[in-house]
Amino acid sequence: MNDAERPLANTNKTVFQKRESRVRSYARHFPLLFARAEGSYLYDVQGKAYLDFLSGAGSLNYGHNHPVLRDALVRYIRDCGVTHSLDLHTTAKAEFLETLETLILRPRDLPYVVQFTGPTGANAVEAALKIARKYTGRRSIVAFTNGFHGVTLGALAMTGNSHHRGAACQELTGAIRMPFEGYLGPGIDTLEYFEKTLNDASSGIDHPAAVIVETVQGEGGLNTASAAWLRNLQALCRRHDMLLIVDDIQAGCGRTGAFFSFEEAGITPDIVTLSKSLSGLGLPFAVTLFRRELDVWRPGEHNGTFRGNNHAFVTAAATLRHFWSDDAFEREVRRKAQHMRKRLAQIAENAEHELRVKGRGLMQGLAFADPPLAGAVSREAFRRGMIIETSGPSDEVIKCLCPLTISMEDLERGLTILEESVAAVLSQQSLPRAVV
Ligand code: PLP
Repeated sequence: MNDAERPLANTNKTVFQKRESRVRSYARHFPLLFARAEGSYLYDVQGKAYLDFLSGAGSLNYGHNHPVLRDALVRYIRDCGVTHSLDLHTTAKAEFLETLETLILRPRDLPYVVQFTGPTGANAVEAALKIARKYTGRRSIVAFTNGFHGVTLGALAMTGNSHHRGAACQELTGAIRMPFEGYLGPGIDTLEYFEKTLNDASSGIDHPAAVIVETVQGEGGLNTASAAWLRNLQALCRRHDMLLIVDDIQAGCGRTGAFFSFEEAGITPDIVTLSKSLSGLGLPFAVTLFRRELDVWRPGEHNGTFRGNNHAFVTAAATLRHFWSDDAFEREVRRKAQHMRKRLAQIAENAEHELRVKGRGLMQGLAFADPPLAGAVSREAFRRGMIIETSGPSDEVIKCLCPLTISMEDLERGLTILEESVAAVLSQQSLPRAVV
């Protein structure tokens, strides 16, 4: 073995306990040493394959090391393409912007300029919040119950989860919390309440700059906003002069079928955040898109050393060309999503426990009346060779986030592992049926 190969061959697992911060989390649920990843599978050092129904929390929509994307990057590096360039113009950036415009923005009639933020989702959210405040001159931003927008302080103020909020150890300001669709139970229109507070001069709600929303709450338990609710939300924003920010960091890039998760609702947000699967290959990359008149930044006013990851530009452009030149991929995702829906409904139907199917597209899952059961199913599935996580305020939802490129055969395999894991866990319980 030469020195350059050594890090890849390192099988020392004790180093994580010894040297890595306690903050690590996924590694606690799936405590293996992974060495390879290809398509829909991760492989541990022993070579055992694990079907990946987590997909880097939605960062690997096109699977691991997709050959088209990998080869594009390898070629670029071999040709000594620019790796780091601050926000200088590069050929890789030009190609990404042009491809985004031709294949994504123009066909959808979306009039956005692109801000390259730091490479994480939270960076894109921070930029979105700042621009909304700077443009309107107002401070507060409406965020929804169970929303998740990242853990940097501005984004964290918009996030609902108390586990994450508590770690801030300081005031989280600037958010007004409103109930997401369905939060107050069936038949209650949460937007009616929202609008009432806006129309009431003594409701205590100051005129917000913007509203930030996920169309499907990825971390919040796969709560799905209906197309009608989203359209009404957009109308409400327009009536009350508030900007609409769609945080499409998890639900975007094809996860729900269309490239943007809001397309189905026929709305045009003022600001959109994208990250996670934007690079296609799982590289850190984020953008904030907004209408040109919102572009009130002075040069360098909002910056960051890693704005614009040239490697990600290359793979993102290759991704758009390969998957988004026509609607074939979108149709394929919808077909797989239908299959997932059908199978999850079957699992729920046959279970000796009240399970509820939640989510949309290839972002669906099962909510358990008894929350710890979802974690138990995740552990059981892992034992059977699949990586799948939970989400929701009590981690009560088992969330299927397989690569969109998964074969029908592997999709069915994963759903069967899930079915068997649910059955195995429930057979160890004697729970009364309860409504979630
Ligand atoms: N917004 C949404 C909807 C997310 O799901 C996430 C992460 O899961 C974020 C923002 C934050 O992204 P990051 O973890 O890259 O900062």
